Amino acid sequence: MLDPNVFFDQALWSCGFWLWTILRQRCTEEHRIGETCGLKLIFETDYRHDYCKICELVVRKQSLITKNGGGLAAYLVSLF
Ligand SMILES: [Zn+2]
Repeated sequence: MLDPNVFFDQALWSCGFWLWTILRQRCTEEHRIGETCGLKLIFETDYRHDYCKICELVVRKQSLITKNGGGLAAYLVSLF
């Protein structure tokens, strides 16, 4: 029987992306050091109001595309 006592802190970004962060309480059923029974429960949620790593990359890429797209539009206009 699994003892559901593995509590982790969770980081939650405004877009919905989340990650486990700090292990708060370990379950008694772990078999190897550093391993848990696999059932993780939220101890505390750390709300992040900025962009997550993925969103940050998307925003950066979008601005790059907009910049380059703008350059392409200007180039096309200059042909006529
Ligand atoms: Zn995100």
